[in-house]
Amino acid sequence: MNSDERVSRRAFLSTSTVAASAGLAATGLAAEGVSPQKTIPPVAELVDDNFTSATGRQFGSQVIHHGEQSGYQVTPISQDKARPTYQRPGNLNNPTVAALLRKVMEMEGTEATIGGPCGMGIISQTYMALVKPGDRVVTHRCNYYWVMALFQQQLSSWGVEVEFIDMTNPENLAKSLKAKPANFVHWEPYVNPTMEVLDTPALIKIAKQAGATVIVDNTWLTPYLLQPARLGADLVIHSVTKYVGGHGNAMGGVVSGSKKLVGKIEKAQNMFGGLLRPMDAFLVTQGVKTLPLRMRQHCRSAQMIAEFLQSHPAVARVRYGGLTDWNPDAKAGQPKGFGGMLGIEWKTNAVYQGLGKHVKLIINATSLGDPVTRITMRRADKLYGIPPRFTRVSIGLEEPEDLIADFKQAIERCS
Ligand code: PLP
Repeated sequence: MNSDERVSRRAFLSTSTVAASAGLAATGLAAEGVSPQKTIPPVAELVDDNFTSATGRQFGSQVIHHGEQSGYQVTPISQDKARPTYQRPGNLNNPTVAALLRKVMEMEGTEATIGGPCGMGIISQTYMALVKPGDRVVTHRCNYYWVMALFQQQLSSWGVEVEFIDMTNPENLAKSLKAKPANFVHWEPYVNPTMEVLDTPALIKIAKQAGATVIVDNTWLTPYLLQPARLGADLVIHSVTKYVGGHGNAMGGVVSGSKKLVGKIEKAQNMFGGLLRPMDAFLVTQGVKTLPLRMRQHCRSAQMIAEFLQSHPAVARVRYGGLTDWNPDAKAGQPKGFGGMLGIEWKTNAVYQGLGKHVKLIINATSLGDPVTRITMRRADKLYGIPPRFTRVSIGLEEPEDLIADFKQAIERCS
């Protein structure tokens, strides 16, 4: 690659209208003699404004220091199944798991958190513990694939009604709950894989006013960018396999909320099993300490790559929360960033089908939220809102110039 093929990061930083909203540091630019055209806020400001801590410290400091076992900076791995007490349910009994759960409670601002073996493990345990025949769940028309399967196949077989609605317009939730009240309302604020940005504060307000229990899957935005419990959500779920752990080396899930609700899930975990294991909790605990740094880089790179792709002739449309063409509220300020997930609608089948064979740095495989960048082809689905010729992208932590170069060469080889 010759040097003028490279996208100049300095040029991007000084001209991008979105660089400012992605929270790019002005200090480095000033040192290089570049005067930014916008007033660029300090990077720490990407964090959800609602965050508070008892110490008065910032999110990034709390997540490093808070929750470790007394006397340790790095809580050791305790594999003892029965010390200090038997390890089921997966609550604060195990010191290694407890260090992570305390950090999650601090980030999300909740009284309680319980861990499970992966995101789906804790989502299914939550529903198994809380629903009863005759209950009604209202959810968005699209969620993570296996959450859709859980709602469509399992909940209906337990005598639970599930209604799928288009939550991109919060009025649709108000209408649905007015027509028939629901026990639970469930959604992902930044939807997998459609990249729809749902108005989480408005949806929480509507669901709470109608008396429903609100369950938000915050895996994609993470508690750095959005803290739904501080906005009134009853339960907040994470697959910590993804951004919270952030290194692709561990699996786990957590659900956070009031002692009363989480206590019900905790009690049920004695029957269902499925625990967050200490080795995974240990790895996720090391990962979460750099969550703010990683999320800022994911936001920054994804924004840069989304802007590049948007201007590429092979692309029909880019779906990224930080692009005003896709999300008119991109700069409204909450959330202030959208992490590393974006979607590409291609003009031709040749690029849609061929891209995965030609990428060199980017990995053509499922999963997300890791340091490596991944692409996955998604089949069109009208009901879910997945468009034709759609690729889901998880932008990792590689330098964005290298990712852009890889996209460029791979697209060229397809045509
Ligand atoms: N929730 C969301 C939004 C996801 O994207 C995923 C997985 O991609 C899950 C839940 C499931 O997590 P896990 O793979 O840890 O079971």
